[in-house]
Amino acid sequence: MKRLAAPDRKVCVACGVCMKACPKNAISIYKGCYALVEEATCVGCGLCAKVCPAGCIVIHERSEAK
Ligand code: SF4
Ligand code: SF4
Repeated sequence: MKRLAAPDRKVCVACGVCMKACPKNAISIYKGCYALVEEATCVGCGLCAKVCPAGCIVIHERSEAK
């Protein structure tokens, strides 16, 4: 099972801390409003969730896309 980071758009304050912490560069700040995770690039390491000051990133399990 692969894992995917899912920031909560309603809670995210667009600080960019997660973006800087991501080793895969999978996060961007969408229109300066909230963190957006590129699903194909994210490896589910959870680093972004650890550093987010708002605690709004959850790591979800996801089934392998075929
Ligand atoms: S879980 Fe890891 S790879 Fe995925 S967005 Fe967060 S820091 Fe990047
Ligand atoms: S660290 Fe948290 S609050 Fe900051 S941009 Fe990322 S998801 Fe949003």
